[in-house]
Amino acid sequence: MKVYILGSGIGGMSCAAVLANKGFEVTVLEQNSYFGGKAHRISEEGFEFDTGPCLLTYPNWFEELFNTCGKNLKDYLGYQRLDPITRYFLDNQHVDVASDIKQTAINFENKLGLKKIVFLNYIKRWVRIYNISEKIFLLNELKFNFFFLKNAFKWIFKAGVINIFTSVAYYNKVLKNKAVEKIMNRFATYTGSSPYKTPAFMNQLAIVEMINGGYYPKGGIHGISKALFKLCKDVGVEFQFNYKIDNIKHQSNLFKIYSKNEVIFSKYLVSNID
Ligand SMILES: Cc1cc2nc3c(=O)[nH]c(=O)nc-3n(C[C@H](O)[C@H](O)[C@H](O)COP(=O)(O)OP(=O)(O)OC[C@H]3O[C@@H](n4cnc5c(N)ncnc54)[C@H](O)[C@@H]3O)c2cc1C
Repeated sequence: MKVYILGSGIGGMSCAAVLANKGFEVTVLEQNSYFGGKAHRISEEGFEFDTGPCLLTYPNWFEELFNTCGKNLKDYLGYQRLDPITRYFLDNQHVDVASDIKQTAINFENKLGLKKIVFLNYIKRWVRIYNISEKIFLLNELKFNFFFLKNAFKWIFKAGVINIFTSVAYYNKVLKNKAVEKIMNRFATYTGSSPYKTPAFMNQLAIVEMINGGYYPKGGIHGISKALFKLCKDVGVEFQFNYKIDNIKHQSNLFKIYSKNEVIFSKYLVSNID
């Protein structure tokens, strides 16, 4: 069965590999002349720059993806856990977020004057909320049905209504420490949002990095794109580059994929264009 995937970013290639491995005949259509999407790389005067993402979280999800395709991630990509994960430069000093949260709390106390216990209690609360979100949303299929609504209400009840009606920056004032508030506000920008406008529940993104850890893929984040491209090739995915989709229509159980030169008809389509 033929399926078209639109976009050769990390998402598109992951999907392409899984479907090809399941026996679909997969073609990825990509407007650029290269794969990777945001996780691309540019070279200038002997230096190489990742164009977007720089920190890997959840390498185990990549491991799972490669395992699903009968492959071992280690044969495609090496990575290492970072310690420290991040270094923040604030008014002539710096402070490290370590891979151990207790060490981070000590660093914040010693350098920024926030009591360890205050920070650890703050983190404990968001770990609890994150764990609920992970179970309900991240590890479940997102379908807008009765079960989704039931779980969404459960989440609101457990996470607390206050986290929906206050902003990240407003909530973080509980820390009563401007420097640490600034650090914790940063996580709202993960989604390109402003901490002053984003609901406080986005604070749980801090848990992804501060508790679950940050990783460095060998060769930078573009190494992930390269690994996925190779995986795709190994399981038989076809790529068409310089192929810009102008429009998609769905009629009579068929997708019509419009580009400059042709219209493709397909029963199956996955769009992962941004
Ligand atoms: C500055 C920045 C920093 C980031 N930092 C991190 C980080 O440190 N860690 C992290 O995990 N995440 C980070 N992210 C997020 C991460 O980059 C994205 O979540 C991820 O790369 C998205 O992958 P994707 O495949 O969903 O989309 P994309 O990478 O956007 O891929 C979409 C693809 O679709 C193609 N496309 C679009 N329109 C068309 C069309 N009309 N026809 C054909 N093809 C089309 C595009 O060319 C592209 O290749 C960062 C993002 C940015 C921008």
